[in-house]
Amino acid sequence: MYERYHIHQEVTAPRFRPVPKFIIQRAGNCINCGKCERNCVYGVHMRRDDDPRRMADPLSQFCKDCFRCIAGCPQRALTISVGAEFTSLGSGGWTPQRVTTVWNESETGKVPVFGAGYRGMFSGPGYDAMWTDMSEIVRPTRDGIHGREHISTNVLICRNPPFLEFGPKGELLTPMAESIDLPVPFVFDLAALKESTKGIMQGLDQAAKELHTLLMVPVDKVEAYGMDLSSGRVVPIVGDDAGNEVSKMPEQVRFIELSDANRLKERVKAVRAARGGMIVGTRVKADAELESRLVDIACEADVIHVLFDEEGRESGGRYARDALRSYHKVLVKAGIRDEVTIIAGGGIAAAEQVPKSIICGTDVVSLDDALMVSLGCRMCHSCKGECPADLANAPSEYVKGRVVNMANAWRDQLLEVLGAMGIKEVRRLRGETGRAIFQEDAERDSFAGIFRGDVIG
Ligand code: SF4
Ligand code: SF4
Repeated sequence: MYERYHIHQEVTAPRFRPVPKFIIQRAGNCINCGKCERNCVYGVHMRRDDDPRRMADPLSQFCKDCFRCIAGCPQRALTISVGAEFTSLGSGGWTPQRVTTVWNESETGKVPVFGAGYRGMFSGPGYDAMWTDMSEIVRPTRDGIHGREHISTNVLICRNPPFLEFGPKGELLTPMAESIDLPVPFVFDLAALKESTKGIMQGLDQAAKELHTLLMVPVDKVEAYGMDLSSGRVVPIVGDDAGNEVSKMPEQVRFIELSDANRLKERVKAVRAARGGMIVGTRVKADAELESRLVDIACEADVIHVLFDEEGRESGGRYARDALRSYHKVLVKAGIRDEVTIIAGGGIAAAEQVPKSIICGTDVVSLDDALMVSLGCRMCHSCKGECPADLANAPSEYVKGRVVNMANAWRDQLLEVLGAMGIKEVRRLRGETGRAIFQEDAERDSFAGIFRGDVIG
């Protein structure tokens, strides 16, 4: 019987001290009238348990910056400011707002709501310089993204045949290759995680099981992480001796990744000899040379897993936003884009970046640092010292709960994007750059006439 894909989320409280964005302070001229308690719907202002005549210290972590208490205080006793600890969170593409947004998504599993509306920048580097075009606002039904009409977030990992051949009776002659159907367009890449305790790895494995997605794991770490290749959700990353490694794997392993694209033809051949039908992917670092090698790689590997750096850039070069569009075009021009699957990872720091990456030409997005941030990581890069999130001791249940919640919030935001575009399956979004507005195009269209084309091109 058909069952609609559903992610079961459950509130998973953080194991770390909250970092409030806004700091509310109450001055000494407060007369304890309690107006702020009545005005704040978020529970920031409460009376003291031990002395209800007096106000307790504000619980700033719940403040949504709506200003009601400030405006309503007869004594002008309240002030609000952005906290210094908050502004110190994150690094690179992980802005303080992104870190805390992922924390909240991982706690509740819900799409974030910004109480006083979005007040951030409207442009920035990389994916921030593109906007998804939701101007059609074609809701599939009136009852929203979880309504009667289904929007599919399923993606396939496979090698597609270039064309289908049929016999005289209409029978399919083209042999169909192995394929993996994922209900969400993201996988977990565990090869580059900052912390890799057994608790974290077990939790990620349980989360992948709940979500029906995959985990990329270096083959020599599978046992140490307590994972089981026969679960079918582990994608082993193998090195030079790929053929030999694959011959020892259980039949449930249907997809492997080569650690790099060196001696690609030879290694793919060895894997195919050891196990016909296996989906063979290769990990490739995004750099200035990749574009020129892409067609050759696509002729050998079924899946190309492109790895951008922590900031979502080719090493020292273009942002994924620009690089992916170029890669996509190169493969389209060579007539083989539909034959291969592209997975892109590195620098994904927000839900909205998943559809943006897909619009730029990706089939599937791999998550790495986002998994750590969901557990409380601040991206402060002081892991060797004292980790404020105590990641090393994170139990697997906590890891599973937080990551599943984040995945649910991210999928719901993807559904919002697809629903507002009137697109009923995420696979149709791939490479659809017409579904986005790019900053340079908008600037050119708006200002080139005025400034005689001197606007960025
Ligand atoms: S409204 Fe102002 S004066 Fe009244 S309890 Fe709140 S802070 Fe104090
Ligand atoms: S600014 Fe708004 S949310 Fe924040 S404490 Fe005051 S009333 Fe509550």
